[in-house]
Amino acid sequence: MRRIRILLFSTVIIALSLGYFLQPGKKIDEKKYLGEIAPDINFSEKKGSPAHYLSDSGVVAFNTYDVTPSITGYAGPIKLLLSISDKGVITGIKILEHKETKNYVHYMERPEYLGRFLGKSIKDKFEIDRDVDGISRATVSVEALAKTIRESSRITASNVYGMDVSSEGAGRFEVKWISYLLIFSFSLVFYFLTRRSKRLLRARDWGLAAGILITGIYLSSPFSILHVFNLILLRPSSSILWLVIICTTFISLIVAGRLYCGWLCPFGAISEFIGRLPVRKWSVPVETDDRWRNLKYILLAVIIAIVLLSRRPDYGNYETYVTLFSFHGNYLTWLLVAITLIANLKIERFWCRYLCPVAAFTGILSRKAKGYPSRHDCPMGNKPMPMISECIRCNRCYKGRG
Ligand code: SF4
Repeated sequence: MRRIRILLFSTVIIALSLGYFLQPGKKIDEKKYLGEIAPDINFSEKKGSPAHYLSDSGVVAFNTYDVTPSITGYAGPIKLLLSISDKGVITGIKILEHKETKNYVHYMERPEYLGRFLGKSIKDKFEIDRDVDGISRATVSVEALAKTIRESSRITASNVYGMDVSSEGAGRFEVKWISYLLIFSFSLVFYFLTRRSKRLLRARDWGLAAGILITGIYLSSPFSILHVFNLILLRPSSSILWLVIICTTFISLIVAGRLYCGWLCPFGAISEFIGRLPVRKWSVPVETDDRWRNLKYILLAVIIAIVLLSRRPDYGNYETYVTLFSFHGNYLTWLLVAITLIANLKIERFWCRYLCPVAAFTGILSRKAKGYPSRHDCPMGNKPMPMISECIRCNRCYKGRG
């Protein structure tokens, strides 16, 4: 494990440094798109604060990143070219650049979706599923998009037109991050309780089922290695849900190792439930199994190199749960989902054992823990000499109970 840690850590450092020199952020030619969002209108040169283009008819166009750079989606800011009239109405919109995961935002990029913002008053609240249509599997990105439009257009209208725009925004109560926090708290509490009493082990199944329904289907936000890449590339999201997912995963890593994998991950939960079906399992020789388990670390090193050199987290996306819970993918990615789910009938938690980049990431950060001797029904087949990096803390074998 020490060698694997050194390999991954050096890959991060080398690829990050090389990527910095190879991909020095390209400049966007905004003028090229002005005619697209406001045809037949002549704009001045870019000027003022915040920087904007002004037309004789009073329409103002601007790059939202010049106004609200701190509003971010899952993977940094969503840069838009926006035009508004002197009445405070949105008249044109174009996405200039974003680094969100394509699976989730493919619908958000379409002109028919963006067109729904046209004609809206900048005084509107831009509340998802109220006055702005939500996209069920792209919550964080769509919220960032709506907030970017609302805040940047209000600031620009106030500065350019002297318009008095109310600062009323979308409501702050968010069911989504609270529901994730509840599932996490449930898992953490029962993780500790099941270390005291074996009788409570059944509660883990309830947590896994809730993970599938809430984290997977409702939130469509399982923890992804792309979260880690966005952190490394200094592109943290301004979404509370994103922050909650990141913080809880890191906290759990410190206090309970791979708790996320064993209690919260919706794909791991589906894999485990499939693996429990009464189908005779393959018996993989221990040496072969150990060798195959290293595959996930090699894959992680490869995608670290690809992502950090290109500075594009979406290039490293082979995570089956992204396809499954975004309900979007191509033939190849859906085939991978099908194979990795069916394989659980023969090898339990097949994806988690051999391929998952999150498993590799949480594995290298798992600290030593006493009292886990493993046993014949370990869901990770972590035997006969259990490795703590492979233990998902299901607590079935925990021996420290009084
Ligand atoms: S080693 Fe024990 S606690 Fe860890 S996954 Fe296997 S059975 Fe569960």
